[in-house]
Amino acid sequence: MTTARTLIAESGIDRVDARLLLQQVLGVNRAWLMAHDDEPLADDAIARFAALATRRRAGEPVAYLLGVREFYSRDFAVGPGVLIPRPETELLVELALARAPQGAVVLDLGTGSGCIPVTLKLERPDLIVSAVDISTDALAIAARNAAALDADIVLRQSDWYAALADAQFDLIVSNPPYIVAGDAHLTQGDLRFEPIDALTDHADGLAHIRAIIAGATARLSAGGWLLFEHGYDQGPASRALLAAAGFVEAQTWTDLAGLDRVSGGIRP
Ligand code: GLN
Repeated sequence: MTTARTLIAESGIDRVDARLLLQQVLGVNRAWLMAHDDEPLADDAIARFAALATRRRAGEPVAYLLGVREFYSRDFAVGPGVLIPRPETELLVELALARAPQGAVVLDLGTGSGCIPVTLKLERPDLIVSAVDISTDALAIAARNAAALDADIVLRQSDWYAALADAQFDLIVSNPPYIVAGDAHLTQGDLRFEPIDALTDHADGLAHIRAIIAGATARLSAGGWLLFEHGYDQGPASRALLAAAGFVEAQTWTDLAGLDRVSGGIRP
């Protein structure tokens, strides 16, 4: 007799991952699964779980197998067309929320799943939020998340600022692709399955950050913040680029692991 307990124990994957996958197959929550983990499972459930476990053993991210990842306490649909939301990015959201004036017009560049603009709008309904991505696959997922979570945001296809004409913003945020070309992390773990163009600029890691800073000067209102996420070793370079572009109060914030993770500055 195959029970949830034996299925999870013998799955060959992490216990927590296995439990989440089985909950999804059975359509039950954690409490139900724990209360019923010694009951026999139906053959079709066992087979569906086995298929997911095989994919997980081959490295596919749990978030893609589940089709969902939590960000800022909300569930966001995710798939292979978008970066999986990371807890570090909640720092970017918090910094933006603390700096957005009442009724501010906000832009998110390279939105992916839409986790940043949707969260900003739901936490601060006074904000007028728009977001762009170059990828139509990403925009479809972002639109799905905005609709499912009832966030009134505007989504547009654009290569950074290219399609935005001369629109002005009070705050610009971004979690751009910032991993250096050839970085070993790109061939490890979840990153192997994520869209490569959402992870790296295929250059020194700062190419998109340069473009975002360069375009922000003309599009930010006076006193407006530019805030962007970056790699643990890109804080000094980010502040130098901000200062060189005329931003003031250029600074870097650290994530929960104590690593440089977000930099920003004010357009005077
Ligand atoms: N934070 C991601 C990682 O290093 C990278 C995300 C990005 O490039 N914006 O796993």
